[in-house]
Amino acid sequence: MPGYRDLDYDVVVVGAGVTGLYQLHCLRKLGFRVRVLEAGSDVGGTWYWNRYPGCRFDSESYSYSYSFSQELLNEWDWTEHFSAQPQTERYLQFVADKFDLRKDIQFSSRVASTVFDEEHSCWEITVEGGAQFRCRFLIMSIGHLSAPTLPNIENIAKFSGEWFHTGLWPKEEVTFSCKDVAVVGTGASGVQMIQEISKTAKSLTVFQRNPNWCTPLHNKEISKSEMQEIRKNYPHIFQACGASGGGFVHTTEDRNALDVTEEEREKFWEEQYAKPGFSMWLGNFKDVYIDREANRLLSDFVARKIRDRVVDEKTAELLIPKDHGFGTKRVPQETFYYEVYNQSNVRLVSLSETPFECVTKKGIKTTDREYEFDTIVYATGFDAITGSFDRIDIRGVNGRRLRESWRSKIVTFLGVQVPDFPNFFMIPGPQVLFANHTRLAEFNVEWVTALIKHVDGKGLTRVEPRLDAAEDWSNHVEESGKELLINEVDSWMSGVNSNVEGKQRRVFVRYDGIWPAYRKRCRGIASSGYQELQFS
Ligand code: NAP
Repeated sequence: MPGYRDLDYDVVVVGAGVTGLYQLHCLRKLGFRVRVLEAGSDVGGTWYWNRYPGCRFDSESYSYSYSFSQELLNEWDWTEHFSAQPQTERYLQFVADKFDLRKDIQFSSRVASTVFDEEHSCWEITVEGGAQFRCRFLIMSIGHLSAPTLPNIENIAKFSGEWFHTGLWPKEEVTFSCKDVAVVGTGASGVQMIQEISKTAKSLTVFQRNPNWCTPLHNKEISKSEMQEIRKNYPHIFQACGASGGGFVHTTEDRNALDVTEEEREKFWEEQYAKPGFSMWLGNFKDVYIDREANRLLSDFVARKIRDRVVDEKTAELLIPKDHGFGTKRVPQETFYYEVYNQSNVRLVSLSETPFECVTKKGIKTTDREYEFDTIVYATGFDAITGSFDRIDIRGVNGRRLRESWRSKIVTFLGVQVPDFPNFFMIPGPQVLFANHTRLAEFNVEWVTALIKHVDGKGLTRVEPRLDAAEDWSNHVEESGKELLINEVDSWMSGVNSNVEGKQRRVFVRYDGIWPAYRKRCRGIASSGYQELQFS
C-alpha cells in the first residue's frame, strides 16, 4: 500500500503471551512486518507474571496446548496433567524459540498510549520511557487478568517486612520456612498459594473476606507412555474441546439435577467430585446454574464435603460460602486445601467478622487485634477484563478514549473490535466468549489474521465494526447472560472489583454463549464478506 511502507510496522501486537506469540507467527508467515511490544523481560504473559509458588494450570495441560503445529505437538511432552507454572512458562519459551519469534519481540516495553492518527489512518504507539512507533494495525493481546489490584486498605507500603502480589511475583526465590506469613484473598491464586505456604511456614494466617467453593484438582504425573497416548489422542482432545460449550474437555451432563432421583444425583456428584479438574464445575447437570433449587442441592453436597474434610466445625462453617451458590464464581481447584486448616500452624481470620483496619509496620490490624508478620502475600486478584485496557491511554476517532466510552456502556463486536477504533483488535477483549484460553486465542488470532489479509489484499485503508452491528452483539451478550445465576453474583467475571473505583456495579463483560455457536457466528461473518464491518 502506498504510504504504509513509511510506517515502522504493518502490525504492532501488544503482549507476548499465549495469544501474542501465535498472532506474531501467523502474520509474519503472510509477510507482514510485525513488532510485539512486551512489558516483561521474556515471553509468557500470565505464565511469566504469575510465578508464585503453587501456581499451575487448573485445566488439563494438553487441552491448553497450541494445536496449530503438528511438529510442536510431537516435540513437546507435558509431565503433569495440570502443569505447574515453571513448565508452562518453559513451553511458551520453547514455542518462541522453535518459531524464532523473539527476534520480533521487544521486551521490557510497556505501552503507555496508543492514538489513532486519522489523517494517515495509522496508530501511534508510545512506550513508557518515550519510544514511539507507527503502525497500520494494532492488536492488543494483553490478557483478561493482567492488571493486579491490591486491597483498598491503608498503609500497605508501610509494612516493614516483605510483601508481594501473586500476579507480580519476583523471579528471585521467596522462602517461607521459619516465617510468620499472611495471605490475603482466597480466590484461585490464594488457594494455590495457601496450600504451598502451609507446608513450610512457621505460621500461616489466611485473611478471608468471602469463602469460595473449591473442588479437588486430582493432579497426576504423566508418564512417557501416557504422553504417547495423549499425543495420539490430540485430534480427539481438540475435537472434544471444539464441541463443548466452553472449549474444555469437560461437557455438561445432558440431564437435569431435578429430573433424577436423589440417589442418582448423589452418585453422579460423588463421581464428578472424584474426577480431575473442572469435572464438578463444568461437567455438571444442565440446570444447576439456572435453577436455584438445583444449585442449592449441589451447594449442599459440596458443603458436606467441606464439613467432612475440616476438623474444626467453626472453621468449616467459615469456609462454606453463604453469599453465592456453587459454580456461580470461578471455582478454585485444590489439592488438600481444606486439610490445610487442620494443621496447627494455620489459622483462618474471617474479615467479615473482623474487618481490616489497616496495615501496620509490623503486620495487619483488624477490628479485633494486630497480627505480626514477616511476609504478607496479597492474592487479591485483578482489575479484570477491562482493567488492562483502562491502564493504557487508548484513543480512537476524534480522540475518543476507550476507557471513557466503556464507563457508560461496553460495546464491542464479537469481543474483538470496537466502533470508532479502526484497525484495532482485542484478543481477547470484553464480551468475548468465556472459554479455554488457548482454544479461543487460536480461533480469534486466525479470524483477525484473515481479516487483516482481506483488508490488505483489497487495498483498503480502514476497518472497523458498524455501530449497529456492535450494538447487536452487545445486546446478544446481555441476553445470553440473563438467565444465569453467575450474573447475580459479584466477582471479576461480572466486572466487579471492590478495590477499583467505578467497578462496584455488575456489567456484562463476558459472553455466556457456547463455543461452537460463537465460532459459527464469526465464520459466517467472514464467509459473507464481513457485512457487519465498514471498510474504507
Ligand atoms: P480473585 O478470584 O478475584 O480473588 C481475589 C481474592 O482476594 C478474593 O478472595 C477476594 O475476596 C479477596 N480480596 C480482594 N480484595 C480484598 C480486600 N480489599 N480485602 C480482603 N480481601 C480481598 O483473584 P485470583 O485468585 O487472583 O484469581 C483470579 C482469576 O485468575 C481466577 O478466577 C482464574 O480465572 C485465574 N487464575 C487461574 C489459575 C489457574 O488456572 N491455575 C490460577 C489462579 C488464578 P472476595 O471474594 O470477598 O472479593
